[in-house]
Amino acid sequence: MTNEDDVRAVPLPPMSLLVLGTMAFDAIETPFGSVDKTVGGAATFISLAASYFYQPIHNVSVVGDDFPAETLAELNRRGVDTAGVEVRQGEKSFFWRGRYHADLNTRTTLQTDLNVLATFDPKLPAHYRRPEYVMLGNLVPDIQRDVLNQLERKPKLVAMDTMNYWLDSARDSVLKTLEMVDLLTVNDEEARLLSGEYSLRKAARAIRQMGPQYLVIKKGEHGSLLFGPEGIYVAPALPLEDVFDPTGAGDTFAGGMMGYIARRGEVSFGAIKAGILYGSTLASFCVEEFGISRLLRLEKAEVEARAAELHSLVHVVLD
Ligand code: AMP
Repeated sequence: MTNEDDVRAVPLPPMSLLVLGTMAFDAIETPFGSVDKTVGGAATFISLAASYFYQPIHNVSVVGDDFPAETLAELNRRGVDTAGVEVRQGEKSFFWRGRYHADLNTRTTLQTDLNVLATFDPKLPAHYRRPEYVMLGNLVPDIQRDVLNQLERKPKLVAMDTMNYWLDSARDSVLKTLEMVDLLTVNDEEARLLSGEYSLRKAARAIRQMGPQYLVIKKGEHGSLLFGPEGIYVAPALPLEDVFDPTGAGDTFAGGMMGYIARRGEVSFGAIKAGILYGSTLASFCVEEFGISRLLRLEKAEVEARAAELHSLVHVVLD
């Protein structure tokens, strides 16, 4: 056997998208109703959305023995590997309670119980350590960094999400993690909090100097902005007739975007723009029902129809 044969005998490492984040129970109050305990969490929404476009997804999280085995099985059926999800016996899953205001664009966090998350110290399974794409969902910033430090090669794209909770309680750690990422997604309020700038253009300049070359600022029903070395892109959100529960919209957006980019296999301004269009499309379904239920029933035809509608909304001929 020649050396060349030997090398070829080693299977190529499978391409993958690594997703880190909470898997949780949420209690949600909206002007239309409330629910006491529904499955949520950043990694749940991200993985579900991303798996629409791309597999395998390697999910890293921690749950208690109260987390439904059925949800893990459902994720597995969609190509989401949960070998990296630690299930702690006798402990409780992360819990979040939030209330949406009348405009549905703003919300107040009423309760955050870290539970299993307080002592989470992820150890990536060996087959998780060479991902092409990484989506660090909203989580303790030290843990986001810890996961990146366990990777055995540099991914093509590392994206990260965070929220005011971590900016308020662990700002220095968020800044350290930011130095290691290529793309950050935050909402407009978080962009202002992080940068200290009111103008989103100035905020973007300041944040991009903190590390990520790409920044996506989410503005709820008003769409999103992408800032990168190539310039700025303004993306609309689909004006919806019925928004029921916005929880998970940001994560679904990020998951859809990363899943699309991974499927296309290209990191460029154009690919991120198209990823944003598909991320917004999936988020528009997520908000139609509580929790993850709508995402579990996505049909290809309805996704493509909405993506086309969203695309047509921004098309204009200037003569
Ligand atoms: P979003 O996409 O921003 O609406 O994310 C909603 C999800 O984030 C919910 O399902 C919560 O379980 C989860 N979540 C809420 N607070 C936190 C937090 N401090 N860290 C991580 N995840 C959180």
